[in-house]
Amino acid sequence: MTTYLNHFIGGKLVEGESTRTSPVFDPAKGTVSKEVRLGSVADVDSAVAAAAAAFPEWRDASLAKRQSVVFTFRELLNARKSELAEILTSEHGKVLSDAAGEIARGLEVVDFAAGMPHLLKGEYSENVSTGVDVYSVKQPLGVVGIISPFNFPAMVPLWFFPIAIAAGNTVVLKPSEKDPSAANWLAELFAEAGLPDGVFNVVHGDKEAVDALLEHPVVKSISFVGSTPIAKYIYETAARNGKRVQALGGAKNHMLVLPDADLDLAADAAVNAGFGSAGERCMAISVLLAVDTVADELVSRIAERMSTLKTGDGRRSCDMGPLITKVHRDKVASYLDVAEADGATVVVDGRNPDVDGEPEGFWFGPTLLDNVPLSSTVYTDEIFGPVLSVVRVSSYAEGLEIINNSRYGNGTAIFTNDGGAARRFQREVTVGMVGINVPIPVPVAYHSFGGWKESMFGDSKAYGPQGVHFFTQEKAITSRWLDPSHGGINLGFPEHD
Ligand code: NAD
Repeated sequence: MTTYLNHFIGGKLVEGESTRTSPVFDPAKGTVSKEVRLGSVADVDSAVAAAAAAFPEWRDASLAKRQSVVFTFRELLNARKSELAEILTSEHGKVLSDAAGEIARGLEVVDFAAGMPHLLKGEYSENVSTGVDVYSVKQPLGVVGIISPFNFPAMVPLWFFPIAIAAGNTVVLKPSEKDPSAANWLAELFAEAGLPDGVFNVVHGDKEAVDALLEHPVVKSISFVGSTPIAKYIYETAARNGKRVQALGGAKNHMLVLPDADLDLAADAAVNAGFGSAGERCMAISVLLAVDTVADELVSRIAERMSTLKTGDGRRSCDMGPLITKVHRDKVASYLDVAEADGATVVVDGRNPDVDGEPEGFWFGPTLLDNVPLSSTVYTDEIFGPVLSVVRVSSYAEGLEIINNSRYGNGTAIFTNDGGAARRFQREVTVGMVGINVPIPVPVAYHSFGGWKESMFGDSKAYGPQGVHFFTQEKAITSRWLDPSHGGINLGFPEHD
């Protein structure tokens, strides 16, 4: 019997009106575990209607009430996170420890959102003119839309909805159709924590549901994370429909290793950041820029470490799981043919890995390519798999120039023991998140996450202060408590006295 994953609208699981569905795989087994419903325009309408109906009461709930529901959600999530990790591994394929890490980083945002009463404090200027005070308050937007990618089915929604909800908005989330169950689990858990029906809704679907959200007149904002072409489309379409948009796109993250770096630490970092989550992370390191004098040694230390990695079912204590779909696995594999044709050296070939898992799983092993030409699509495309490309450079300056010429600017890292070089790099690099001897510099929840160039469209990053800014609109109030001296006619623009 087929299991169907329903939408979660108005506090209930609903089948909706659409009859279209899409298979959800267990990537380590290559089997279909369920069918997810693909919402129609009518299904998005009913989710938005539920969110709109819930908004006035949620907006008017006291800060204390909202904070207490977020706190309870945090406690439940912390207590039951292993259930969620199992869901993530069974649909995404990432190993259980990595799934736990994803949840931990999402929980950080819930912690941050629980401090919303402090974050919503406005500003007050007393007596700006005689007897006149000016103050500003931050108010919620209303119904907000979130559209998330497959690679972090829990963490990316958690970047947004705790802050949106704590700030008094109501939410419609459209998660990735490839691993959609985590979204329902989170929404049901928040309901269990006491969130009123309709504050947090999940509509499953593909382009049809996304377009319905982008065009819906009641939806005030769109928070999107996914690939660059879709991020661009979301930014343009949602903006054309008058919405506030933050659209985070794809990446090609470079790690620059200078000759004075500790090569063992750099090799560890390159392996962890290149192959963790099978390279399906927007902050994965996919290009290693090695200065010539240390490149041979670095490549050999990385290859040595790679030989110890165990690829297999994420439930079996492996280091790296499968890729998300067979189609994606085949696409990643095709880049090795390109690499060979373009003159790169295949140092470690992941095409036929030994795996601890079912043969039908979507397997691809850790792969190391050396001497990758900058003109090759292996370098220019976001491969989004466990493929680390080494590009050799003669100097810091050449490495920096390569990074700054990339159309992406999500994350980058420099490995060096030279503080001056690191400081220069931090100032000169045109990338939104920079690691100094830290390969995956994902900012903590009280800073904000987002890239530059084609890695992000819009001017508010995710979570942290910019997340609060995105999900609130400021109102400035000028107030005077009248007394008879304020009378008189004056058509001039108000000035201060
Ligand atoms: P994707 O762009 O294919 O899909 C993202 C979302 O958009 C999904 O919900 C999907 O259903 C929807 N979508 C897909 N095609 C669409 C279309 N034509 N019209 C409207 N909606 C559409 O991305 P993905 O494969 O799920 O995720 C991987 C990508 O996400 C990678 O490029 C990765 O770098 C990026 N990513 C970026 C960040 C970041 O913070 N910058 C974080 C995580 C992932």
